[in-house]
Amino acid sequence: MGRPMTDCLFCKIVSGDVPAEIVRESAGALAFRDINPQAPTHVLVIPRDHRPTVAELAASDPGLLAEVVREAHQVAVDEGIAETGYRVVFNTGPQAGQTVFHVHAHVLGGRGLNWPPG
Ligand code: 5GP
Repeated sequence: MGRPMTDCLFCKIVSGDVPAEIVRESAGALAFRDINPQAPTHVLVIPRDHRPTVAELAASDPGLLAEVVREAHQVAVDEGIAETGYRVVFNTGPQAGQTVFHVHAHVLGGRGLNWPPG
């Protein structure tokens, strides 16, 4: 738990082995643009340490989860969408659409976002 996983795409982004457009860095977290953006702002915020899901991160390191959420808000500030509104989403599990099992917060904004989500 917390060790880099050799077969994890987002661990490879943390290590620099896979390139990404990084927009913010903190001691424990990294924020980079989604390769397939679903909104004018679509940034992923991840802990540097490997944790599969938000539930696992909450249980093992709640301080690191708080850092991820703080960084998500700072992304929104940096992108100029904090005032108009933005969404932070942790897809958790296959039925919710999680495809990369290194926990990530989607930060989405810059357009009107529908509710309920699809
Ligand atoms: P999930 O479906 O697990 O909630 O979100 C995974 C996200 O990772 C998707 O929005 C997808 O577009 C993004 N993604 C997948 N591969 C890459 C990649 O190589 N680089 C970047 N920057 N994003 C990726």
